[in-house]
Amino acid sequence: MIYGQTLEDLENYFTLLGEKKFKAVQIYDWLYKKRVNSFDEMSNIKKDVILKLKEDFEISKPTIVQKQIGDDVYKYLFELDDGNFVEAALMIHDYGNSLCVSSQVGCNMGCAFCESGRLKKKRNLEAFEMVGQILLVEEDLNIRISHVVLMGIGEPFDNYDNVMKFINIINSGKGIDIGARHITVSTCGIVPKIYEFADSKLQVNLAISLHAPNDELRSKLMKINKVYKIDDVIKGVKYYIDKTNRRVTFEYIMLKGINDNKKCALELASLLKGLNAYVNLIPYNETSHIDFKKTSNDNVMRFYDILKKNKINVTVRREFGSEISAACGQLRASQEEK
Ligand code: SAH
Repeated sequence: MIYGQTLEDLENYFTLLGEKKFKAVQIYDWLYKKRVNSFDEMSNIKKDVILKLKEDFEISKPTIVQKQIGDDVYKYLFELDDGNFVEAALMIHDYGNSLCVSSQVGCNMGCAFCESGRLKKKRNLEAFEMVGQILLVEEDLNIRISHVVLMGIGEPFDNYDNVMKFINIINSGKGIDIGARHITVSTCGIVPKIYEFADSKLQVNLAISLHAPNDELRSKLMKINKVYKIDDVIKGVKYYIDKTNRRVTFEYIMLKGINDNKKCALELASLLKGLNAYVNLIPYNETSHIDFKKTSNDNVMRFYDILKKNKINVTVRREFGSEISAACGQLRASQEEK
């Protein structure tokens, strides 16, 4: 698959063919700057090289099977080559267009509040299937995506190699050219991969789905906490901050009557004290299959104030798409249940 090739992969490919390495840059230019959909349109590439490329690579993308439009948000359902479905959501911000990309078909992390995990993981997405989500949305709306967040269906660190390859491809200045600082990987806390990610020294943002300030509560909400405890996660985060000098985001979904009281806020503040981090409070997207309810806005603000008073950097995530099926996994689940 041509969209799964890093620039270096293509350079090596051409070197092995006895061609100039520079051809790789030309191919990237056709694919990602000029956006052609066939090798035949690559008019500065010799005929015999085109034939070889056709022999060795396919040039296909997933297909859009459903699109929902909300206020400043577009939700897409894609069908993959093997008939599986994944989703992406585009959010229009004042600072740019941010695409929330899926990394797996389903998810095995089993977080109690999450729609994606109701359907178990069928397989990992390949890098080209993640690249394809970006290309399709850009084409469909005739826009440029400026930010990418790996917060769609799946756990990116459970598909580490493909995700890193995907980041390499979209980050290339010769291709889609999305800056590392505009890319965010979100994980439920697969600790060994946090270390590996830190060692990669990329300037890509890291977000941790924390959602609870103590192990007792977190283990009830997130199965992964039985394997990697909060302390392990925090140690990994400290390592990441040391290595990269980047600030880390802690995501905290506000669940009514569960993790939204004053005691939780104080505990969270003391857990994160002194860390180069900030908390993103997320209004819960209610879904019909799961019983959790969203915290009232007033209560979110009370929680926010407590964190602020305790000198924790905190923001409240703007709510997108509650009028459509924007909770990750909702579209796919309804498609699969048809
Ligand atoms: N597996 C990764 C990335 C995918 S989930 C992770 O856990 O971080 C992206 C974010 O959306 C996570 O913080 C997740 O906890 C959150 N999320 C899941 N279901 C949600 C819902 N219904 N409403 C709001 N956020 C949700």
